[in-house]
Amino acid sequence: MPLPALTTQHLAKSFGSTHAVQDVSLTVRAGETLALLGPSGCGKSTVLRMVAGLERPDTGQGEVGRVEVGGRDVTALPPEARHIGLVFQDYALFPHLSVLDNVAYGPRMRGATRAEAHGRAREALELVNLPELSARKPAQLSGGQAQRVALARALATGSPLLLLDEPLSNLDERLRAELRNDLRELFGRVGAGVLLVTHDQREALALAGQVAVMRAGQLVQTGAARDVFDQPATAWVAAFLGWANVLEREDGQALLIPEDAVQLGEGDAFTLTARHATEAGETITVAHPLGLLTLNLSAREVGRIDGQTLRFDVNMTRVQRVINDLKT
Ligand code: ATP
Repeated sequence: MPLPALTTQHLAKSFGSTHAVQDVSLTVRAGETLALLGPSGCGKSTVLRMVAGLERPDTGQGEVGRVEVGGRDVTALPPEARHIGLVFQDYALFPHLSVLDNVAYGPRMRGATRAEAHGRAREALELVNLPELSARKPAQLSGGQAQRVALARALATGSPLLLLDEPLSNLDERLRAELRNDLRELFGRVGAGVLLVTHDQREALALAGQVAVMRAGQLVQTGAARDVFDQPATAWVAAFLGWANVLEREDGQALLIPEDAVQLGEGDAFTLTARHATEAGETITVAHPLGLLTLNLSAREVGRIDGQTLRFDVNMTRVQRVINDLKT
């Protein structure tokens, strides 16, 4: 077994009274892409910045945070000594350097000769299909091209780990779709581990084999992307991943409802198709366009199983709205 590209253990970070990240432990295996997925403000970028060395994990309480890259403990090292390829939202290309010199920068910093570094940079630009733009300055590139150059710069480092923070967020929808396909193919070819931060469910599913869903500073579900999308552990995860109709039992288990089974409106009674029976007195949560709704089933409302169909005759005006949105 090759060593994992990345292991984090017990990463925590607070800013004043904001607990931005709490006890995040995850592993990215070599050749694998893991998407850290969650709503805005849940702490994704802070995890990435701790991995990159741009932010120090808290050492105050609990277990001490640790970051290993390719099996090497880098927790105490500055960013430049960690040997990580980074791609940020704004690309951060050096405006005064040519594309070739931007891409050659990493290898140069690691002691390669100018000729070696340029050789590596040309290979990386080939990988992202931009060899003909080497002489241009960043200001002469389109958004999609600048994104590819930033990626080439990360690839040229030859690092076992690439970190990408919302790499497609500054691009229009068409370019985004195009680059999504390119990136997936590229990640497969380069063999590095990739940690990708995104709030976009489709992007995570399109690019990553593994997904770690984060909410309010904590990991709430980690696993193969398909499994997480098909079997969200909780109603919150299910609703965040776009499931239209979800029930949640008191034990927290999510019950998924096929999309066409129900449309809830104010005052509606509804009929659901579910995988599990319910009992009187059980509290369930229903995902609704307004947010997650909870209700305590009365005897009259208990689901009657008719094949796979559970019938709830619940009047929505009785339903209490508990979570207004999915921001945290
Ligand atoms: P987004 O998708 O919007 O980029 P995110 O999931 O990456 O969000 P973070 O940027 O990690 O979230 O922020 C997590 C929390 O920590 C937020 O509440 C944010 O306001 C706070 N935070 C992040 N950096 C700082 C900082 N330097 N000082 C104070 N608070 C911060």
